[in-house]
Amino acid sequence: MHSDDVVAEARRLLRLCAACMYCDDLCPVFAAIAGRHAFAAADLAYVANLCHSCKACHYACQYAPPHAFAVNLPRSLARVRQISYADYARPRFLRGAFAGGGLRASSALVVVAVAAFALLRADAGGRAGSIGFYDVIPEKWMVMAALGALLAAAASLAWSACAFWADIGPPARPQEILRAAPRAISEAIALKHLDGDGSGCADGPDRGAQARRWAHHLLVAGLATDFSASIAAAFSEHWLGMAPPFPASSAPVVLGVAGGALVLGGVCGLVWLKRRADPEPVAAETAGADYHLLGMITLVAVSGAVLLAARSTTAMPWLLALHLGLVGSFFALLPASKFVHAIYRAAALLRATVESRARAGDPPPPDLAAGG
Ligand code: SF4
Ligand code: SF4
Repeated sequence: MHSDDVVAEARRLLRLCAACMYCDDLCPVFAAIAGRHAFAAADLAYVANLCHSCKACHYACQYAPPHAFAVNLPRSLARVRQISYADYARPRFLRGAFAGGGLRASSALVVVAVAAFALLRADAGGRAGSIGFYDVIPEKWMVMAALGALLAAAASLAWSACAFWADIGPPARPQEILRAAPRAISEAIALKHLDGDGSGCADGPDRGAQARRWAHHLLVAGLATDFSASIAAAFSEHWLGMAPPFPASSAPVVLGVAGGALVLGGVCGLVWLKRRADPEPVAAETAGADYHLLGMITLVAVSGAVLLAARSTTAMPWLLALHLGLVGSFFALLPASKFVHAIYRAAALLRATVESRARAGDPPPPDLAAGG
């Protein structure tokens, strides 16, 4: 579907919903569009990222197909979200990744990163069991590659987030935004709106399940546990004088294994939910971005597990090169992946919270109340 058609359809549906408002208690999208008749491009990006595709409105809608109005709001907003990922990608050359080039870019980057680490492995093969990871790939190269990829990704994500916020940010004073931030952040972290106000996030007409919310929590908890494993590894190395590979009972290994298991549990849950989801309110063309991110996470987790299991064998140098190449590629590709939705959604929740507080008559900051 051409992007102009996607935008025109989203505007048509949002005008209908703003007039109907039958679904106004389902999620913050309906409060955001209440009373509005015109939707600029930035409004569409805001509303689309406020939607978490729970599909509840589709099953509640009396104008859904076969009605002539053919309302399918979750599918329409999913398409607008996909366009917004490309529109706000910074640097701009990352747009291509959201226009279908993500898989090709990932494959190329993974191959280059793995090859680079493989070249660094020198002639370590055949000496497994008597060598450490740093005999295969010098520590400074490992640290430089991981930190370089991570910092580049963080800078790109921050730039993209600023571009998004510059467009969708509400006309509010900084004090109002700061006062709304704690609630928006806690709702984003707790995935509050995935609980459908306690009745669960719909992946079908039955709204009783919270599986999607818990699968997201598992995935995030796993990534956080893996990150803490890296911190434990740095601590063990620089303060306890240990060198990798660490013993199986050490904190870095235990945390790494626990994190990997949580990550794989979350990925399996999300894939299972996607496979059994009703295709009607889903934009099939956006599924590639979901599977791309989940696939990269899986490759990193599985390659880490295989490296752990085979670290005493002659395959260790190659497995280390493969794992590090995948980790570096994963970091570098974050700004060109579905991961950006987490950031845009948090920004959209912040605007929704500012507007919600204004509607509730939240007293303005002192300088505004005094006319300053
Ligand atoms: S999704 Fe349907 S029922 Fe719900 S507000 Fe929109 S038009 Fe009305
Ligand atoms: S799909 Fe869910 S989150 Fe999106 S607009 Fe409908 S009810 Fe709201």
